[in-house]
Amino acid sequence: MAVHGHPDAARQVYLGLYALQHRGQESAGIATANGQNLSNIKGMGLVSEIFTEDVLRKLPGDMAIGHTRYSTTGDSALLNAQPIRVESTKGLIAIAHNGNLINLGNIRLRLERAGAYFQTTSDSEIIVQLIAHSKAGSLVDAIADSLSQVEGAFSIVMMTRDRIFAARDPRGFRPLSMGRIRNADGPDTVVFASETCAFDLLRAEYERDVMPGELVMVTQDGVTSRQYATGVPQSSCIFEQVYFARPDSRIYGRWVQESREEMGRQLARESGVLADLVCPVPDSGVTAALGYAAESGLPFRFGLIRNHYVGRTFIEPEQRVRDFGVKLKLNPVRNLLQGKRVILIDDSIIRGTTSRKIVRMVRGAGAKEVHLRISCPPTVSPCFYGVDTPSKRDLIAANKSIEEIRQFIEADSLAYLSLDGMLHACGAPLAPGENGGFCVACYTGKYPTQWIDVDEILPARE
Ligand code: 5GP
Ligand code: SF4
Ligand code: MG
Repeated sequence: MAVHGHPDAARQVYLGLYALQHRGQESAGIATANGQNLSNIKGMGLVSEIFTEDVLRKLPGDMAIGHTRYSTTGDSALLNAQPIRVESTKGLIAIAHNGNLINLGNIRLRLERAGAYFQTTSDSEIIVQLIAHSKAGSLVDAIADSLSQVEGAFSIVMMTRDRIFAARDPRGFRPLSMGRIRNADGPDTVVFASETCAFDLLRAEYERDVMPGELVMVTQDGVTSRQYATGVPQSSCIFEQVYFARPDSRIYGRWVQESREEMGRQLARESGVLADLVCPVPDSGVTAALGYAAESGLPFRFGLIRNHYVGRTFIEPEQRVRDFGVKLKLNPVRNLLQGKRVILIDDSIIRGTTSRKIVRMVRGAGAKEVHLRISCPPTVSPCFYGVDTPSKRDLIAANKSIEEIRQFIEADSLAYLSLDGMLHACGAPLAPGENGGFCVACYTGKYPTQWIDVDEILPARE
């Protein structure tokens, strides 16, 4: 998230981060610049916990960038919270990165030999250190040069004392949009965010997406842009449409709500079943369930209620805590489910343990039949591009057939959306090329980048 040209830039970024909280709950940070200094405050926890009024007052300036983090590489520590600020011969640079770099090989080692002193164990710092050690003359050349040297997923915003930069990797894995607040008495405020829902609180208008391979620079003189990479096929993460982004965001130019509802409709067309009602697994299954109900003509009922006050303490990696967490988070509405044939809609099955608990819960509430429908294809392979999926070993669909998964989760029937159905629902094609410009690697195991070590690092159980 970034803001350029607003007298209280920190507060604008704070509001934006509030709307982006679902993208990361581990840590958050805001850096501001006022032409001379670059301030940076980070903390562990939620945006609202870290940025009190007192803290926001310590962040002066008319430019700001911010970040919410959930870790995919590097430890989950304050050390790795972002923005990351690095001092260099090109001045102070702060960066906020969404995504995950891959094939870094010996870049870090090479930089250290050249005198780079790394402050973090995060992959994101590599980009700033590359810029700091670049031989290119101007800062913007150094950034373009550095971005061409790394591979993987990166939507980034960067800030120096007097400029904001925004860029997407050449394949456009992660979203990044640009918006504008029109000021009656001066130049526009230019904003960038991973999701357009962040613009709404700021009353910013969505202008366009930052393009894959594009580097945008915002200075006092306005917005300029250059394409630092061309000719690379687009592969934008389809999981943003399936699960990650909020339905009130426009991702890759398409409303997430529209995609999800269409996934539900398509699911009903592909694998309809005789039943009494359609019930979402809240929140992630709600929009697809609406589509499924509309297409099938069955009533949509909230047969599971989510407790919105369950703290993050219960979203623990440890299995025992996770099992308990499901019960704390969801509770069945017996009155609706008793004696009914229920179609449950969820967005994905990762390990299968949550889904099994939920199916048991619905049956325990008296449902006569439980049919689980998933609004994407089976997740068979991990993500290396910024989504924290477990290794193949723990992905149930990498190790079991659909019938075996059905047995494991104890459902009367189980069906997933087809790959074509999902692509169609998400508005493919986005761009020419394979899979209509989408990355679908976690559903196919075919990665758009080179990843030679996939099976070595993450041994699959046959
Ligand atoms: P499972 O049955 O695999 O244990 O859990 C499936 C649930 O996890 C679904 O409700 C889905 O919304 C949620 N989910 C989907 N993707 C992710 C992810 O990347 N990380 C986490 N923590 N949960 C996810
Ligand atoms: Fe998205 Fe899956 Fe590709 Fe990762 S592997 S970028 S989650 S589509
Ligand atoms: Mg869910």
